[in-house]
Amino acid sequence: MKQIEQLEAICNRYDCQLLRNEPLCKHTTFRIGGCAAAFIDINGSDVLAELVNYCNENDLKWMVLGNGSNVLVSDEGYDGVIFSFGKQASRIEFLDDCRIRCEAGAFLMTVAKAALEESLSGMECLSGIPGTVGGALYMNAGAYGSEMADVVISAEYIDEDGSLKTVLRDHMDLSYRHSMFSGTKRIITSVTFKLHEGKYDSIKTEMTGYLNQRRAKQPLELPSAGSTFKRPVGSYASFLIDQCGLKGASVGDAQVSIKHAGFIVNTGKATCKDVLELCQFVIETVEEKTGYKLELEPVLLR
Ligand SMILES: Cc1cc2nc3c(=O)[nH]c(=O)nc-3n(C[C@H](O)[C@H](O)[C@H](O)COP(=O)(O)OP(=O)(O)OC[C@H]3O[C@@H](n4cnc5c(N)ncnc54)[C@H](O)[C@@H]3O)c2cc1C
Repeated sequence: MKQIEQLEAICNRYDCQLLRNEPLCKHTTFRIGGCAAAFIDINGSDVLAELVNYCNENDLKWMVLGNGSNVLVSDEGYDGVIFSFGKQASRIEFLDDCRIRCEAGAFLMTVAKAALEESLSGMECLSGIPGTVGGALYMNAGAYGSEMADVVISAEYIDEDGSLKTVLRDHMDLSYRHSMFSGTKRIITSVTFKLHEGKYDSIKTEMTGYLNQRRAKQPLELPSAGSTFKRPVGSYASFLIDQCGLKGASVGDAQVSIKHAGFIVNTGKATCKDVLELCQFVIETVEEKTGYKLELEPVLLR
């Protein structure tokens, strides 16, 4: 495709890599999904702005990917361009006043470990979420009573008109698994956290405690996208699914985890179709038996 060649030419100027027909199952924690027409490992906001501009002007579909830990990619793949925020866009910088500025591709775990080394507290609860800071802010990720909204103070992003902007936390419209970025084409390029001084040993103990809880309760040994359903108001998805006797229910190799009913896991060669069919079965059963209507948490990429 001529347009892909043009994108390649832009990438070459900025020394970043474009892969054609790249299997997205390699880039998602579910290990599911067909190929993307083009997959670009982003290494800065300048190249990204130019590439997005080119895609918009030429009607090329595009989408941003972090660690792929909250997406479900269709079996047919993605007939467009994936901008991947990975190692090349993951710089972490300590600022004054307990602030840390991170490029969007930095892993939450890496930021939490860096904070620990400086005895900075605030990231403990979030440290086990297997996402990038961009992906985490996109959906205001949270765990163990804390969420991104508690520690983020500002972010830089490329707005839908292509301009680079800065937004402060209070203007990010943060709520349960939602931000001003959700469902839009805004691209987060960096996130600044404000932490507070703490004691190395107590931060480390807390972080280790949360990681151990995850290992004990979550099916981390199998591919998944974490919690498959959002928490419904007034209850918990995993509790409802368990109450309905759905642990172990399966379609193909997609299975409601036996260890944690809130996770759908890929026990082998699950397809996106298997996962969606199983989700539909869970949603219908839970609604019929409890009255709660569950909603999918991962973003569908097709
Ligand atoms: C084992 C496991 C445990 C998990 N535990 C938790 C948990 O405790 N709490 C929780 O909240 N989540 C949890 N998750 C889900 C997931 O890790 C989080 O939602 C994480 O924040 C997603 O980050 P990511 O980088 O993987 O985003 P991706 O999955 O790559 O992307 C998710 C969405 O964010 C968008 N996005 C990504 N980067 C950017 C960017 N730079 N700018 C704009 N949009 C962007 C994507 O376009 C997509 O729409 C878990 C997942 C797994 C597999």
